[in-house]
Amino acid sequence: MCGIIGYIGKENPIDILINGLKNLEYRGYDSAGIALKNENEIEIIKSVGKIVNLEEKIKNQELISANIGIAHTRWATHGKPSVENAHPHRVGNITLVHNGIIENAEELREKLKKENVVFEGETDTETLTALINKYYKNDPIEAISNALKEVKGSYALGILFENSNDLYAVRKDSPLIIGIGEKENFIASDIAAIIDYTNKYILLEEGEIAKINKDKVEVTKDKKVVDKQIQVTKLERDAKDKCGYDHYMLKEIMEEPVVLEKTFEPYLDNLEKLPDLTKYEEIHIVACGSAMYAGMIGKTLLEEYANTKVEIDVASEYRYKNIIYDRKTLVILISQSGETADTIAAMRKAKEHKVDTLAIVNVKTSTIARDSDAQIFIEAGPEIAVATTKAYILQVGIMALLAYKTALTKDLVKEEHKVLEEAKKLPRMIKEVLDRREEYKKIAKEIYKSEDVFFIGRKIDYATSQEGSLKIKEISYIHSEAYQAGELKHGTISLIDDGIPVFAIITDDTIKDKTVSNIEEVKSRGAKTIIISNETWDNQKLQVVVPKISPYFQPILIVPTLQLIAYETAKLRGCDIDKPKNLAKSVTVE
Ligand code: GLU
Repeated sequence: MCGIIGYIGKENPIDILINGLKNLEYRGYDSAGIALKNENEIEIIKSVGKIVNLEEKIKNQELISANIGIAHTRWATHGKPSVENAHPHRVGNITLVHNGIIENAEELREKLKKENVVFEGETDTETLTALINKYYKNDPIEAISNALKEVKGSYALGILFENSNDLYAVRKDSPLIIGIGEKENFIASDIAAIIDYTNKYILLEEGEIAKINKDKVEVTKDKKVVDKQIQVTKLERDAKDKCGYDHYMLKEIMEEPVVLEKTFEPYLDNLEKLPDLTKYEEIHIVACGSAMYAGMIGKTLLEEYANTKVEIDVASEYRYKNIIYDRKTLVILISQSGETADTIAAMRKAKEHKVDTLAIVNVKTSTIARDSDAQIFIEAGPEIAVATTKAYILQVGIMALLAYKTALTKDLVKEEHKVLEEAKKLPRMIKEVLDRREEYKKIAKEIYKSEDVFFIGRKIDYATSQEGSLKIKEISYIHSEAYQAGELKHGTISLIDDGIPVFAIITDDTIKDKTVSNIEEVKSRGAKTIIISNETWDNQKLQVVVPKISPYFQPILIVPTLQLIAYETAKLRGCDIDKPKNLAKSVTVE
């Protein structure tokens, strides 16, 4: 789930490890730790909370001099955030860091306890450490492979063995790369952790075990050496900088016009480069969080304008449900990181049923990008803030182009929609919307003291409301819910009281009068209404009016306003905007 960095080389690893952990901070975490090793001993330092706490502990301690180290930021799945449960874990001869989740940890732990293993904490990781220790008879690779045969779940592991001066790495369903340097090598869960030291890396595949020392990386599979390609990342070091913005989130919102232009560029004059969805009788869209809401926009557009049957599900449900694949189906998987555990599982399920998969993904080296049948890449570049903004906009953009191409193939395009013409104008129009920050600040001032906020909308405006509502709760911690405007009176309206903010999204001309009636209903119960629309509303104090554009792209002009309102609100509330509590960037556990 969270971050791993490991180092072996000529330097004392401490600064490299701390810097690496800081570069991974954006993923969210609850505790952190490092292990240092030299030929004779291993030292572990761990702390709860932010990395500065770990630094503080390190400063106040006499540390061993070392040339190997592993470090971790933990996002707890098994056991509370505490020093005992923080990684690295050490049992007997084994010290390790782990990202992911061991599903049969409970059962393994019971067995090990019967063999007199004593545990200090509650994590699945400590159980795994004990299991590798059980199999360790001075052959690290043998111990790793024997232990992993008994393990169910996901893992990226950096492992140190008492009697070995190498660093070992292995992974399954959780990302891990090996960074290649000059007389030094690294492991990392994400290239951001090591980009300050090298841009060369090796992708570790499932079933492979890497034995790493400062001069050499040897990767084996079933004890046979595998010839690995060294890859070079284009990620620039300064991509991580905030470019003068107060927060990554703000910087990333401001990048939306540029990344949209870049993402659309290959397709606007070459729609044939996009897959043909008309080959399929049914489309399933599967994703989590914001990506799911981007999928909801896609579903609405495909149904509304391309007369295409679309089912949508959150990946954590889809993977376990009885899905009836009785028609020729395409499963579209949407994930920024391409490492979302539930979405990976949904992809595997589709593949088991021999159903085609199409990934809409940002990270090109990710598991979903590599293992899906077809891919459309969004060109978001690195997205550091935990709450997604630019990647969501691009996912919606791609879904809109797919819906348009499908409508075109079926000869259903309405001339007035002018999709391609408007697509070219879109980046400039987003910029216009982004430039109106004062308006968003004004609305933020109206809502930031509220405990509850509601969003209403119908059809595509409901899908947009979902994302607006999620942004508010993610980063400002205000309780927020989105409702289909007509549904509110079936229960939720009892929560509407004097001064409760209700955002109404109104862009769909075919249904706007109905939403207007719902606005009246909440107004008469005291709600403070805020209309976000593509037309001006008389006698409405709080409103944001964005330019009118083809309905395929209207959400792409509405959502940036909601992102900025959420941003300004979180700022007024003094929240940790880029790293909201309890959240992680790529959710690589189920
Ligand atoms: N499942 C492990 C734990 O709870 C690892 C969590 C992580 O990926 O950070 O400690």
